[in-house]
Amino acid sequence: MNKHPEPVTGVLDIDAYVPGKSAASDGVKPVKLSSNESPLGPSQKAIDSLNRKARDLQEYPDPTAGALRRAIARVHGLNPENIVCGSGSDELLSLIANAYLTSGDEAIYSEFGFLMYPIVIKASGALPVVAKETDCIANVDAILACINQRTKIVFLANPNNPTGSYLPIEEVRRLHASLPSDVLLVIDAAYAEYVQRNNYESGIELVSENSNVIMTRTFSKIHGLAALRIGWAYASGHIIDVLNRIRGPFNVNAAAIIAGEAAILDRSHVEASIAHNNKWLPWVSDELTKIGLMITPSVGNFILIHFPNDNRTAAKADAALSNQGYILRAVAGYGFPNALRMTIGKESENIAVVKILTKFMKDDQL
Ligand SMILES: *Cc1c(COP(=O)(O)O)cnc(C)c1O
Repeated sequence: MNKHPEPVTGVLDIDAYVPGKSAASDGVKPVKLSSNESPLGPSQKAIDSLNRKARDLQEYPDPTAGALRRAIARVHGLNPENIVCGSGSDELLSLIANAYLTSGDEAIYSEFGFLMYPIVIKASGALPVVAKETDCIANVDAILACINQRTKIVFLANPNNPTGSYLPIEEVRRLHASLPSDVLLVIDAAYAEYVQRNNYESGIELVSENSNVIMTRTFSKIHGLAALRIGWAYASGHIIDVLNRIRGPFNVNAAAIIAGEAAILDRSHVEASIAHNNKWLPWVSDELTKIGLMITPSVGNFILIHFPNDNRTAAKADAALSNQGYILRAVAGYGFPNALRMTIGKESENIAVVKILTKFMKDDQL
C-alpha cells in the first residue's frame, strides 16, 4: 500500500472546532444567537470606511497594520510597538502555540476553557493538560498543581467562554506570581469590554509589568466585526518580535485594518453596545432563572443555560427554539451536554427566547 504524508504528532487527535450553527429549521428566518456576535452590529463609521476602501483593492495591505495598531494603542494608552494584529485572535493563539510549543511540551487550560486552546496546543505537537474548575470558574490552585518542567504555556480566557465566568485580577496576579518566569501566561480577554466588575482587569497592567504575559483581544465581539477577522495581542517586545517573525506578512487584510481603526475609535458605538448588554444580560438571566432554569452568572455578552434533569432537555429546548428560528449554541463539546449558550440579542430577540423557553418549561407533553 502507498504511504501518504503524515502530519506531526497530535494533529490527528484534534476534533475540529465546530462553529455556532447559523441555519434554523427549514423555511424559518434564522436569528443567530450562537456565536456571541454583537446585536448592534458594527459602527456606521467602520462600514463607511470599508465602503470607501472597496474602490481601492489592488495593493497589498500595510504589513504592519500600522493605522490599526496606532488606533488600538491610543484608545488603551499603550505603545503600538507592543501590539501585533492577527486575522482574528484565533490566529494569534495559533501563532503563540507555534512559537512556544513543540512535541514533549505541555500547555495548561481550564476544564471548561475555550476549545481553541486544545486545538492549537495539539497542532503544535504538545500535550494539552486540563485543570479542573470549581463551579464553572477557573481554579488557580488547580492550574498551579498542573505545572511541571514540561509546562510552557497557561491559557486563561478571562472572562471565559462558554461559562461567562471570570477571575478577579487578584486571582490572575496570584496565578502569575506562582508561574516560573519562562512559562507564558496567555490571557484571552475577548469579552473584556463587557465586564462591569470593580475587581476585573483585562491584563494590560500585568503585561506591562512582566515579560511572560500576553493578552489577546478581538474585534469580533463588542466591535461587531467578526466577518473581517481582526484580533490583537499586547505583550513585551521579545514576544511581539517572535510573533512578527512567524506571522504571514499580510495576515491582516486592508478592509480589516481600515474598518477596525474606525470601529475602535468610535467610542460612542462601543458605549452603546455596553449599555445594551448591561440592560439585557441581567434581564435575560433573571427571567430564565424565574422559570426554573439554572444560569451560570455571566459577565460577558452571553449566558450558559442549564436545563433540568428531567425530560425538558437542552436538546429538546434547542429544537423548540430552532423551530421558531432562534439558534443557540449546543455546548456538549465543552462538557455541558444539558446546557445551551445564548448570546444576548436585540430586545425583540431576547423577549422571544424568554417566551419560547417559558412555554417549553411548562410543557407537560415533553
Ligand atoms: C470569540 C472568542 C475569541 C475571538 O476569536 P476571533 O478569532 O478574534 O474571532 C477568542 N477567545 C474567546 C474565548 C472567544 O470566545
